Amino acid sequence: MSRRADRCLSPKPRGECPGASSCGHSPDVHEETAMHDHRKLGRELNLFDTDPLIGAGLPYWLPDGAAVRHALEEYIRTAERRAGYRHVYSPVLGKRELYEISGHWSHYSDDMFPPMDLGAEQIVLRPSLCPHHALIYRSRSHSYRELPLRMAELGGMYRSELSGVLGGLTRVRAIQLNDAHIFCTLDQVSDEVRAALEMIRRAYEALGITSARYRLSLPGPGGKYVAAPEMWRRSTALLTDVLDRSGLPYEAAEGEAAFYGPKIDIQVTDSAGRESTLSTVQVDFHQPEQFDLHYIGADGAKHRPVMVHRSIIGSVERAVAHLIEQHGGAFPAWLAPTQLVILPVSEAELPNAEVLARRCARLGLRAEVSGLEHGSLGARIREARLVPYQAVIGAKEAAADHVALRLRDGRRLDPQPIGDALTRIGALVDAHSTDLWDGAACP
Ligand SMILES: [Zn+2]
Repeated sequence: MSRRADRCLSPKPRGECPGASSCGHSPDVHEETAMHDHRKLGRELNLFDTDPLIGAGLPYWLPDGAAVRHALEEYIRTAERRAGYRHVYSPVLGKRELYEISGHWSHYSDDMFPPMDLGAEQIVLRPSLCPHHALIYRSRSHSYRELPLRMAELGGMYRSELSGVLGGLTRVRAIQLNDAHIFCTLDQVSDEVRAALEMIRRAYEALGITSARYRLSLPGPGGKYVAAPEMWRRSTALLTDVLDRSGLPYEAAEGEAAFYGPKIDIQVTDSAGRESTLSTVQVDFHQPEQFDLHYIGADGAKHRPVMVHRSIIGSVERAVAHLIEQHGGAFPAWLAPTQLVILPVSEAELPNAEVLARRCARLGLRAEVSGLEHGSLGARIREARLVPYQAVIGAKEAAADHVALRLRDGRRLDPQPIGDALTRIGALVDAHSTDLWDGAACP
């Protein structure tokens, strides 16, 4: 699994068999998901595509895919702001020296693009965001009162995957990572790890992700990891303690740690039954040491902070790939590219349909009118089968400013005032609910 896991957060030593870890899921899980291959469905649904002139492993996002991605990114940014994170932007390039200090150059350079010579300097596309965030922290002095300092970024990173293994959104060369680094005292680590796990749990609930398992990723034999036995012992004890207290079932796996520390990985399985890491939480004593980070303690002296690396959804690419496969394109309403399709029964209701579409747009809902040029009402309903809400407007509804809603799951609601329908849909979308309706509906 090593090359497929999202690893800014978890740069990993090389030399392991990519198929080394077995996923541990029952065959049933694979049968359930085997119907949906995100590469096929993503193209059919006009979510993303690739062009040989742009290159393998460099997908572009079509408007519907971009709408899903934008909703996902907004969810993450809002959740992070509410949890006390502050966002930064940092460049996707850095000098080779930066990665020599962080340890990436000696432990991870095979996964990095070759450096670019620029005069006397060598510039590289970054393989992770951690070193930039460590430098942003170091650029200002910090008091113990500022800790835990939570720094987040949805930022780009790059991996020199070989073209033979690239495909869809899961094996890509350019990655947009939902990343964050928490600089804190040793006493604060457990609470921060626990809070990150809770953010992940809530995100999975909103995203409807069910096929996940927890893994405590530990170092394996050999010299591929930073050599500091006491550091490994302490960080492993911290993560184990949080997992044990959480009551979450987990398995320990040797040889899956980042080169600088152990991690809790949340594993998901794709349509072919292959497992990969979606979310991760890591404890790192190594990079604060390498970058000589410190804060001023209550005693007025300098102390070393600990870095907690965490990602709620991993890379945006892998998260969307997983969501496509998990839902077969029938996304929760808050993520759906089109949330409401408006179906005038005849040409006479077309003006009403267009008014409703504009009203939805003003409310921030993604709505489309599917007119008679798309066929009979039945054909249009079938075509919109993945859209959460289908709003039918016939002569009666138009006269009363009503709408007859059909839900994606087959439920039909009695005609109701348009304002009421939009209020309830808006509330479910704002709550990031996976429910299509919160009240009684005719079967
Ligand atoms: Zn990191």
